[in-house]
Amino acid sequence: MDCIFCKIIDGSIPSRKIYEDEEVLAFHDIQPAAAQHALIIPKKHIATMNDVQAEDWQLIGSVHRAAQIVAKELGVAESGYRLINNCGKDGGQVVFHIHYHLLGGEKLGPLHA
Ligand code: 5GP
Ligand code: ZN
Repeated sequence: MDCIFCKIIDGSIPSRKIYEDEEVLAFHDIQPAAAQHALIIPKKHIATMNDVQAEDWQLIGSVHRAAQIVAKELGVAESGYRLINNCGKDGGQVVFHIHYHLLGGEKLGPLHA
């Protein structure tokens, strides 16, 4: 399958890992949009939020659990952070393997300027 994040999971594309368990991988974004920018992904290939099936919700919970761990690992848990899923064209999704962006390490701009 021609998926960048599946290749990061199988190690054929290198990444700077932050957290890994049986179900989830977290690594630094290659083009950070904030002082700290991690990506948290399930190892199972699910294209978008729309493709999450009933049996996957526990896995999505595990991704959120990993995000909490990553926030602590990056030292942003107390200062705060933003967790974002971009879904589809209007959501700005570029990589079609579901992922959450964890952004922090600085004061982020408001959603409404
Ligand atoms: P999206 O726009 O799909 O929500 O976000 C995809 C993210 O993946 C972008 O922030 C982009 O910088 C990141 N990205 C794309 N290719 C790679 C890569 O090969 N390695 C890493 N670490 N991040 C990547
Ligand atoms: Zn994939």
